[in-house]
Amino acid sequence: MEISAEQLELVNERIKALEKAESFYGKKLEEAGIHEVHSPGDFKKLPFSEKKDLRDAYPLGLMTAPEEEIVRIHSSSGTTGKPVIIPYTKKDVDDWATMFARCYEMAGITKKDRLQITPGYGLWTAGIGFQAGCEKLGAMAIPMGPGNTDKQIEMMIAMESTVLCATSSYALLLAEEIEKRGLVDQIKLKKGVIGSERWSDKMRNKISGILGIELYDIYGLTEIYGPGIGINCKGQKHMHYWDDFIYIEIIDPKTGKNLPDGEWGEIVITTLKKEGAPLIRYRTHDLSRIIPGKCSCGSPYPRIDIIQGRTDDMMKIHGVNVFPSQIEEIIAEFDEATSEYQIRISHLDGKDTMRLYIEATSGRTDFNDLSQRVAERVKSKIGFTPIVKVVEEGLLPRSEKKAKRVIDERFE
Ligand code: ZN
Repeated sequence: MEISAEQLELVNERIKALEKAESFYGKKLEEAGIHEVHSPGDFKKLPFSEKKDLRDAYPLGLMTAPEEEIVRIHSSSGTTGKPVIIPYTKKDVDDWATMFARCYEMAGITKKDRLQITPGYGLWTAGIGFQAGCEKLGAMAIPMGPGNTDKQIEMMIAMESTVLCATSSYALLLAEEIEKRGLVDQIKLKKGVIGSERWSDKMRNKISGILGIELYDIYGLTEIYGPGIGINCKGQKHMHYWDDFIYIEIIDPKTGKNLPDGEWGEIVITTLKKEGAPLIRYRTHDLSRIIPGKCSCGSPYPRIDIIQGRTDDMMKIHGVNVFPSQIEEIIAEFDEATSEYQIRISHLDGKDTMRLYIEATSGRTDFNDLSQRVAERVKSKIGFTPIVKVVEEGLLPRSEKKAKRVIDERFE
């Protein structure tokens, strides 16, 4: 999706602010010799920004508005290295709430709803984002924060909460606990708004099955406001995003080249209105694709697909981009297989080859037949034929930590 003239105008305003603030990106522009963009072609020449740039700016190097205009900071947790500090102006905080309220509206949530907010409050952007959006919409916020399942369920029943805001894992935990305690009848929940870490359809079906609720995936990251920059509409998997506030490109994570609409790659975001810490062409390392065309719901906002994982997980085989999540989904279609698998990619006789090891559930002996059917399914869904090896249940390595499922022997 090419950048529009209106969006370019907003980018130029951000460029001016970044140059004036002498931030890291202002320096990048200086080096690239770019001070203005007038066409989609110009825009693509702008340098990317990376998480590392943001870390290097610690603590307040990203501040692009005058200090007296900064009203709040947030910080990304960051498992490695220094955290990232994002300053917000009053307008940024307000714009974020506007976007978040729009997400709730997209999910059919109204002023009459009561939202039980279970993501954490504090330095990171989750709880407070859900809360501000709720207040902006005019619905009732029940600001629980995470944990204390007894209290959560007690409040959910007493307050007759109609919307659950949660991570997928916490939503699942609550659903199972409610079922176990035989309280499903006393729950008034209608919808769940779930932070968009990658979660399986199995998990989705389980939560909505127990609680009888519609589920919505909300997208966002601390560097770009926080959650609330996109959400799926009723009955659809794809997420609309707010292109009056952000511009999204999809690039090939290896080459940095823009990819055509519909192709999978890395989400790159440019903030169009952010004042406290504008970001131009920020590489998210999230994998998705632009969904071309208009949505059947009638919304004019463009769409991306549900997040498929991180670019670090992406494999390229015969020129086709493949993610472990795609393989996982295919294996989940076969009741005869366990959920365990291992992928080995090698380069044999000038060709990339994927060997896919899967486990047959105990007692099964028709390994050849299963292997063939899985290979055919991968071919029809992803576009190449792997060598599928079926082994007995329990033979693939399991570990306490995240098992290493992909081994790329081409680079070893
Ligand atoms: Zn839609």
